[in-house]
Amino acid sequence: MNKIETDILVLGSGIAGLSLAIKAASIGNVCIVTKAACIESNTRLAQGGIACVWDENDSFQKHINDTIIAGDGHCNIIAVNTVVQNAPKMIQDLMSLGVKFNKNKDNSLELGREGGHSNHRIVHINDESGLAIVNALLEKARSIKNISFYEHHFAIDLLKKEETCTGALVWDIKNEGTVIFNSRLTILATGGAGKVFEQTTNPDIATGDGYAMANNIGADLADMEFVQFHPTSLFHPNANGFLISEALRGFGAELVLPDGKRFMQNYHILGSLAPRDIVSRAIYTEMQKNHLSCLFLDARSLPSVELINKFPAIYQKCLLLDIDITKNLIPIAPAAHYICGGVVTDINGRTNIKGLYALGEVACTGLHGANRLASNSLLEGLVFAENAFQNIKNNLHDHPFKKIMQDDISDNFRNNIGEQNIIKKLKQNVGEIMWKYAGIKRNQKNMLLAYDKLGLIEDAYTELSLTSISTPDLLELRNIIITAKLIMGFAINRSESLGTHFLEETDYN
Ligand SMILES: Cc1cc2nc3c(=O)[nH]c(=O)nc-3n(C[C@H](O)[C@H](O)[C@H](O)COP(=O)(O)OP(=O)(O)OC[C@H]3O[C@@H](n4cnc5c(N)ncnc54)[C@H](O)[C@@H]3O)c2cc1C
Repeated sequence: MNKIETDILVLGSGIAGLSLAIKAASIGNVCIVTKAACIESNTRLAQGGIACVWDENDSFQKHINDTIIAGDGHCNIIAVNTVVQNAPKMIQDLMSLGVKFNKNKDNSLELGREGGHSNHRIVHINDESGLAIVNALLEKARSIKNISFYEHHFAIDLLKKEETCTGALVWDIKNEGTVIFNSRLTILATGGAGKVFEQTTNPDIATGDGYAMANNIGADLADMEFVQFHPTSLFHPNANGFLISEALRGFGAELVLPDGKRFMQNYHILGSLAPRDIVSRAIYTEMQKNHLSCLFLDARSLPSVELINKFPAIYQKCLLLDIDITKNLIPIAPAAHYICGGVVTDINGRTNIKGLYALGEVACTGLHGANRLASNSLLEGLVFAENAFQNIKNNLHDHPFKKIMQDDISDNFRNNIGEQNIIKKLKQNVGEIMWKYAGIKRNQKNMLLAYDKLGLIEDAYTELSLTSISTPDLLELRNIIITAKLIMGFAINRSESLGTHFLEETDYN
């Protein structure tokens, strides 16, 4: 078993992990461990952009209020204030790294609008904001000598000694061997868990590994019941969860029934631009009422040249599927998008486990409350990476290495394709259960039954893991099951509707 010692171990190469790594490299050695190619992340897929008060008619207070209203009052006000007030500095920092946000003719930043925002305040790079940002961060990180990249390295478990996180056990996928990363500080930045649900906008990497690993070493988790369902994932057999950005509605596209009639005004004063939980529920309700598999977005009346220029990726993707968004209705349906809760941290990203920080989507900072405001999550990753760095900067050497003994760790991890079909089937089963019972509308009785069903799948996993050698696939199944049980467990324990957690049997306004 290989051993690598590093001051700071970063698990994940999305916006949170990369931002922290770039800063932390000024005070020590950093290893970035990531389970696929570096670019693979939720960050890469972000379309809309980053919420930031930039316009003189806007104010921090308005952005704060919008965040709290979207979060259904469940937000941590200190986290909200900190994130909102630091946004302009984060945008400046990204621009100095070379990120070229869209600009107006007068050279001011072009500000988009999204659901739940009372102002235009989304800075963006066309409809591929995440890709441009992650490319800039990667280029910077790759230029720093102190940062070593370990791509195709799968973090299996966090390591703990004397109540302190001491690094992680990692599977080197290409060379088929385990590696112990021993670190002073460990940064969990493994992103979300959309793949726990049958329908999701998330890529394959989003299997909840971070929640499971943190849970396994006794880190506190909270608010896992608040799963955000994005209202407008492209509905097509070959769409693979492709997102139709909310920015399209911000530009004037309307949600409609198959006959072209608008319906959102029956649900919220902001119509198609209401907060996401309300829009997703409204779409779901109309789909159920009218026995439909999808509804539609209507962008046909918008100026077509501008539409194509502003949303080139969406235009091209739809065109590939024979949908010309300037002429045709766009079929959409809700899909699991974002986990609002996660590993509990303080304002500096510290968890309750000494030596372990959690940043980005895997963390629960309290910013999002019961429902995330659009375009607040890339921002959260940036601001908390900065806060964590400021905190680490002064105390890195107060965290001595605690040596991990090789004998403490079992080494039965091998790639083994024999059980792949069973693993795939069990993953699918979890996805179906979660979509049906922990989806947009929930019901206490059904969730209790579904929790038992998850238990049966867990039994099947346990049996499988006794007879077969661990593989990344099997570990992802383990993590999907643990995360699903966390979400369902938290959901069962919340007996009232709040934000994204909607119980059918309770009245809801
Ligand atoms: C389609 C889509 C559009 C979005 N649009 C926006 C938007 O416009 N604005 C906005 O603010 N937010 C948006 N979001 C949400 C936002 O993109 C994410 O919340 C954010 O990028 C999360 O960043 P992160 O660094 O925490 O995680 P990620 O970017 O998901 O990165 C996680 C990293 O961890 C790695 N990893 C995971 N498990 C392991 C493991 N076991 N071992 C090693 N590595 C591991 C992954 O490979 C990946 O590199 C969008 C999300 C999606 C899916």
